[in-house]
Amino acid sequence: MSSQSSIRWFDDFVGVAYRYYDLRMNVVPLFTDRKKASSLWHDVIHWWLDSSIKIRFVEIDDKYWFIMGSDSQHPESNFSFFKILPESDNYERFKNGHGGEAYLRLGVYVTKFRKDVKNDELCYCGHAAEDHDKDDNDLCLYEECMCKKFSTFQVTILKRKKTITDIQFLEEKNIKNDPLAWNCLNINKYSKFS
Ligand SMILES: [Zn+2]
Ligand SMILES: [Zn+2]
Repeated sequence: MSSQSSIRWFDDFVGVAYRYYDLRMNVVPLFTDRKKASSLWHDVIHWWLDSSIKIRFVEIDDKYWFIMGSDSQHPESNFSFFKILPESDNYERFKNGHGGEAYLRLGVYVTKFRKDVKNDELCYCGHAAEDHDKDDNDLCLYEECMCKKFSTFQVTILKRKKTITDIQFLEEKNIKNDPLAWNCLNINKYSKFS
C-alpha cells in the first residue's frame, strides 16, 4: 500500500447486504441510486486488483465497522469504504460461513410502498399488502399489529463482481497491526471523538 495518509474514506452508501448468490457468499454494499452504484464501480472498483482487496470487520459495542480497500490501477482516483452498522443475523451468517472467500458486488436498495407491490407481498410487519387498508394510509388490519403504513424493500444485486480472499474479523485492541483498519479508525474515530 502506498502512504497510509493518502487513503481517502467513503461512507456515502446505505448499508451492506450479505447474500448467497452464485454458490458463494456475496458482500454487497448498497446504494439507493443505481447510476451512482454503476459509476462508482466504473470509476473505483473496476480498477481494483482482486488479490489485493481487503475487508475488515471490527466489532465495537453492538455495532461493527465494515472496512474495505484495495490497491488500484488508478491510485489517484482510488478510495476506501467504511460504514458503521448494527450487528445483524446476516452479518453473523457471513462471519461464520464465508470460508475465507466472497464475491464483491454492488446492490441497489429500493423501498417499496403499497402502490408498488402485488397484494401478496409482505410488509416489514409480516402481513401481506392486501391486509393493509388502502383507505386509511395503509394501516395494517391485523388487530394486534402496530404497523401504520405498508413498506418493504427490494435489493437488486448488480452483475459485475470481484473476488475477495482477504477477509478478517479484528478486535479493536489488535487493529494497530492492520494498516487498513488502523487507518480507518484513526481517521474516522479516534481523531474525531477523542
Ligand atoms: Zn405492515
Ligand atoms: Zn401488520
